[in-house]
Amino acid sequence: MKFCSTCGSPRIELRVPDGDTHARHVCAECGRVHYVNPKVVVGCLPEWEHRILLCRRAIEPRYGLWTLPAGFLEIGESVVAGAARETLEEANARVEVGELYSLVSLPQIGQVYMMFRARLSGLDFGPGTESLEVRLFEEHEVPWEALAFRTIGRTLRNYFLDRKQGAFPLRVSSLERRPPPALFPPDRG
Ligand SMILES: [Zn+2]
Repeated sequence: MKFCSTCGSPRIELRVPDGDTHARHVCAECGRVHYVNPKVVVGCLPEWEHRILLCRRAIEPRYGLWTLPAGFLEIGESVVAGAARETLEEANARVEVGELYSLVSLPQIGQVYMMFRARLSGLDFGPGTESLEVRLFEEHEVPWEALAFRTIGRTLRNYFLDRKQGAFPLRVSSLERRPPPALFPPDRG
């Protein structure tokens, strides 16, 4: 942060305000504390019979890789409405949004993913401006090596496992940054 969004001053300090527990950007001019909190990503896992809908990204990051339709929740929008909007924008697909299924925290990048199971209203879908391609996949067709995000891979793996069990409990988890590679490979002897 270079300038205070309240008074325009460049005198921004990073410090722990009195009574606080985290370092914040504080304006030395007007005293305003600029809080930064996680963003919510909402999306759908759209189902059609035994298949699920994926989108191939036409934007960075992860251009060309596959993902479930999802994006940042807007101010003034409910999570269910946001998940339906993202599905319409990215896949031109209308859905009936169902149960919340996957809730994944990404603490290091300050995001929370909320993915809902959803039923496609029909087969009249196609790529929106942020997608190169949209199609339905059977489980054995899912391009596991070409998924855009770990959150999506985790959500899909859980989904296919739970589908075999015939129940979809809410899956709450956290994805930490991958640990750095070990200096020496683990002993496999
Ligand atoms: Zn200020």
